[in-house]
Amino acid sequence: MDIELSPADLQFQQEVRAFLTEHAYQPGMDEGQWRRRWFAAAAAKGGWDVPRWPRDFGGPGWTAAQHHLWDLETAAHTLPSDSPFGVTMLAPILMAYATPEQQQRFLPAIRARTVQWCQGYSEPGAGSDLAALKTRAVLSAAGTHYVVNGTKLWTSAAHLADWMFCLTRTSEGARRQQGITFLLIPMRQPGIEIKPIITLGGRHHVNMVHLTDVKVPIENRIGKEGEGWTYAKGLLQHERVGIANIARSAVALAELKRAARQLPCGSGCLLDDPSYRLRLAAVEVDLMALEFTELRSLAAISAGLPVGPESSILKLKGTEIQQRIQKLALEAAGLRGAEWGAMGVTTDAAREAFESYLIGRASTIFGGASEVQRDVIWKNVVRLPQ
Ligand SMILES: Cc1cc2nc3c(=O)[nH]c(=O)nc-3n(C[C@H](O)[C@H](O)[C@H](O)COP(=O)(O)OP(=O)(O)OC[C@H]3O[C@@H](n4cnc5c(N)ncnc54)[C@H](O)[C@@H]3O)c2cc1C
Repeated sequence: MDIELSPADLQFQQEVRAFLTEHAYQPGMDEGQWRRRWFAAAAAKGGWDVPRWPRDFGGPGWTAAQHHLWDLETAAHTLPSDSPFGVTMLAPILMAYATPEQQQRFLPAIRARTVQWCQGYSEPGAGSDLAALKTRAVLSAAGTHYVVNGTKLWTSAAHLADWMFCLTRTSEGARRQQGITFLLIPMRQPGIEIKPIITLGGRHHVNMVHLTDVKVPIENRIGKEGEGWTYAKGLLQHERVGIANIARSAVALAELKRAARQLPCGSGCLLDDPSYRLRLAAVEVDLMALEFTELRSLAAISAGLPVGPESSILKLKGTEIQQRIQKLALEAAGLRGAEWGAMGVTTDAAREAFESYLIGRASTIFGGASEVQRDVIWKNVVRLPQ
């Protein structure tokens, strides 16, 4: 995509490239140490460790073009592993709704990546229909803590997390969205039982979490009791922008084109195959269109406007594009797999493509299923007369 880059933007791009090269992972490095050093160096650059945080909270205060360039450059490099739950999803909610004491208590550790978070929203019977959630939080007679009972489902990385941000029901309102309360729950305490769920491809990433008489101090409630739905919705919008992963798709597509140019197919290469070429070109066009949508969204954020329901467009189209690229990569790997298999060579690339394909199936479900995004877009963005 060609956007109008100013000389200052081009200089910024060079600076990012130099940073990423200087701090790139080298084989044999201790990964934990590299990760700590990488984030410390990024922080020393002036908030590069928390690119989307506002300047008031230590973020870099970049323009839309700078965010775009950062995403493009980082997507082409191996970065230290970084969970989205704290830095991307919870932090903006704390900035908007937590007390200064709560911000002081939680934000520094989120930024330092010393505390891991998980998201306790979904439950059996409450996924797309999240307002149906039944996990109950009852305030103690003394008003000092809540007692939480219920079950959370599909909780990513719960087994690795120190804390969960959790939606609980504290009362039944006239509307189901009322009476939901946003609590921060330490994971390592009695009454929390985590059961692994093994997904397609044999991975342990998601869990079922049972909460039985779990005590949560009142200081761990964010905002007002019963108003958690408002905070939860805001958080989902941040989650959706992150899931779109547009820059990563651009890198994956470029790699796929390179591979398709090299892979023998018939008398030429895979890229000569009209059906494959057409599908590749169609994804490329859709990705370019989505990049412009993302830039509009980034420009709004840089201007201090909140992330809006446009995040649903990014999530919907971004994940569909990811899956189309993963499918094309799987097809390409299939060709290579057959060829390499006949030569008795192990097929790591084919296995990688297959794993990405399987893992990628979930991206149109988590963070709100595609059908639900279409509904959000219809109601909030299109605003056609009823
Ligand atoms: C890998 C993975 C990781 C996840 N991680 C987390 C996590 O960390 N924390 C968390 O809280 N949750 C997590 N989730 C849960 C995720 O948010 C839910 O799976 C998702 O919201 C869908 O809910 P559901 O599974 O109950 O499906 P359902 O809501 O039962 O939906 C089933 C199907 O019906 C469709 N459908 C539902 N309602 C409508 C409607 N109104 N109109 C049209 N179609 C509809 C859906 O699109 C879907 O195709 C994760 C899920 C996955 C797969």
